[in-house]
Amino acid sequence: MPSLADFDLPALQAHLAQRRHNPVHAKRLLRAFYDGCGEVDIDSLSVGGALREHVRSELLAPRSTVAAIRRAGDGTTKLLVSLDDHSAVESVLMPGFRPDRAAACVSSQVGCAMGCDFCASTRGGLERNLDAGEIVEQFLHLKRAARKLGRRITSLVFMGMGEPMHNLDQVIPTVRRIADAPTGALGWRQVTVSTVGVVPGIDRLTAEDLNVNLAVSLHAPDDATRSRIVPSNRRYPVADVMAATRRFAAATGRVPTIEYCMLAGVNDSDGHAGLLAGLVAGDRFHVNLIPYNSVGAGVSGTAYERPSNERVVRFLELLRGRGVVAHVRATRGDDVGAACGQLRETAWPLSLPATAMIGSGAGGQGRDE
Ligand code: SF4
Repeated sequence: MPSLADFDLPALQAHLAQRRHNPVHAKRLLRAFYDGCGEVDIDSLSVGGALREHVRSELLAPRSTVAAIRRAGDGTTKLLVSLDDHSAVESVLMPGFRPDRAAACVSSQVGCAMGCDFCASTRGGLERNLDAGEIVEQFLHLKRAARKLGRRITSLVFMGMGEPMHNLDQVIPTVRRIADAPTGALGWRQVTVSTVGVVPGIDRLTAEDLNVNLAVSLHAPDDATRSRIVPSNRRYPVADVMAATRRFAAATGRVPTIEYCMLAGVNDSDGHAGLLAGLVAGDRFHVNLIPYNSVGAGVSGTAYERPSNERVVRFLELLRGRGVVAHVRATRGDDVGAACGQLRETAWPLSLPATAMIGSGAGGQGRDE
């Protein structure tokens, strides 16, 4: 059975008309649904009794539930979201620096086929794509969790499990529903779609002209190093990925982010910094350095390590010395397996109770709720 998360405005209008209800109520229903974090007090809406009954019986049941919650010492909250086919994905709420704000990170697939060697999400391979309603419901679960913590979500990133560019048919309608005014009203510029460098996906996102941000997970500046840790580099080499990223920047005017997971002894040398600077120095790109978060041995069996702080700072300074805008991303939620690359790494205590526990207490030291 569909939930209201499965509809955009035209689709809900058509649905209501087909069921002989006045489609004019579609906008109000969706507004209440998103404002209520996926819950609607249907009795408080001034709509007719027949429509009220139809919504209550056929459109209000969610298609997913929060099966467990883990909260990190830094306030990062990871949700295990259980889907109606009994598969599950993880979604993360990251508190902002301002006490009333938070960022949401959602998954676009159950598992991932891309095989990046430093990432836990790919270990079981790809199970399936999520549909737009399932991704929207992740956002709404996170929005509810944020509200209970006294925060509101001000940005959304597609950096959870999965490669969003391999599910753009569902990711694009999701972005429209969450960003656009009749529904989620988050704002287009508050949304970032990430990719490990799927060139046709970047080009399609460019052509869609959605006014969203693009994050490209480069992780190495040369094909030899990148192919070791990002298997898709064999299909989409560095030069092709950078060319597509430049096309996105030129067409949209947005500043892409180049994500760079730093792995000790693999891609963190002065030489790598020099090559990376050479790749991006002429572009208005922003480089995000992400010191590796431990997930144990990768798909290849290689066990990676995080570089020392001194190495990370040295790498950063080399980039900045060449005029590159670069920052080191603060590690968030690594004590509960919620940091970059760690989703699906942690075994969940699946016997824990569900949605009622959202936001039920202040952050602790990596505890389960
Ligand atoms: S880093 Fe992203 S694209 Fe690569 S395996 Fe992990 S989830 Fe998939």
